[in-house]
Amino acid sequence: MKVIETYNEEETRHFGRELGKRIQPQAICTLNGDLGVGKTVFTQGFAEGLGITQPVNSPTFTIVQIYEEGRMPFYHFDVYRIGDVEEMEEIGYEDYFYGQGVCLIEWAQLIEEILPSELVDITIEKNLEKGFDYRKITLKGEAYEDISIG
Ligand code: ADP
Ligand code: MG
Repeated sequence: MKVIETYNEEETRHFGRELGKRIQPQAICTLNGDLGVGKTVFTQGFAEGLGITQPVNSPTFTIVQIYEEGRMPFYHFDVYRIGDVEEMEEIGYEDYFYGQGVCLIEWAQLIEEILPSELVDITIEKNLEKGFDYRKITLKGEAYEDISIG
């Protein structure tokens, strides 16, 4: 487990970018945290780290957004609005989870029952006592826990 504290959006984006540079094919990253905590900011950095230059936003109406531009395919899920895991089956999620690219899933706790056991898990939390823009980011994923943002 690795804990990183950030004090503005750019630091969170930077941490995402460092993970995106390092991430290996077939990794499944789960991203948890309340609305507005910075999941999409982190994801934007992550995509940059993969070499994606096109803008990344939350794929609100599509569950998954596919980016082919980086050093491997990137499958960005936001399952916030999902009603049932059957919707994941309808979109053929297994092709993404067990393909050659990397998955990153915002609100992954909503689809816990179909997640594999080996995950790179990121949780972002606020702590208002430490300021409005403070975020505590917890990373679980042994291969990546030596990442720092200096
Ligand atoms: P989510 O995807 O979790 O709903 P977003 O990434 O869309 O959240 O939004 C996060 C918001 O919080 C942005 O408006 C961003 O500017 C702001 N913010 C403030 N401080 C931070 C920080 N340390 N890390 C990330 N975002 C921050
Ligand atoms: Mg989001």
